[in-house]
Amino acid sequence: MGANRHMSVDSRGRYTPEAMGETLPGSEGPTGSRSHNLLSTRRASLMQEPVLVLNATYEPINVTAVRRAMVLMLKGVAQAEEMHNAEVHSAAHAHKVPSVIRLLAYRHIPQQSRALSRKNILLRDRNTCQFCVRVFPSSELTLDHVVPRSRGGRSTWENLVACCYRCNNSKGDRTPEEAGLKLARRPRPFTLHTSRQLMRLIGHRDERWRKYLFY
Ligand SMILES: [Zn+2]
Repeated sequence: MGANRHMSVDSRGRYTPEAMGETLPGSEGPTGSRSHNLLSTRRASLMQEPVLVLNATYEPINVTAVRRAMVLMLKGVAQAEEMHNAEVHSAAHAHKVPSVIRLLAYRHIPQQSRALSRKNILLRDRNTCQFCVRVFPSSELTLDHVVPRSRGGRSTWENLVACCYRCNNSKGDRTPEEAGLKLARRPRPFTLHTSRQLMRLIGHRDERWRKYLFY
């Protein structure tokens, strides 16, 4: 019923937290093609590592992947603030890999800049079914319209939640109250506050992020 699987995140390289999806529980690391060559596999996964993006004012605004961060550095849009202890090698050069980058020009971030998409709703709900409160891989979650569409429920941040197939089936075309289900929490739009919480969650893995995230 509530599935909106055709909705997708914009992939034009806007500052959306695309890289974060790969670090959520249940979706381990990059899912790119397995290379025969161990070295290039390691390099490929290194290129998918999350990089914290700071505004010119050092305010954390997003998480991206190493690959994208290095493009921003090459274009002169951002500079590295913290480095990984790793390098990637091109034909002639060894490039240090950033862990934190900072935009050189200040960018205004609108409060509600997140696209309403399946990926962002799973991110907001941290891949947790909002009815049974269990964590699932993205592939085992669907989107549920809290108030069913047949009852006038709309596709909005406030009416869409991550839901496992089992709960989705047992809820059917009913409201949570009618189905005897309770929402883990009230669904809200994905704001900068939400994404900062997610950045902190990821930041626990990387010492170099801490001074920018925990203040
Ligand atoms: Zn469930």
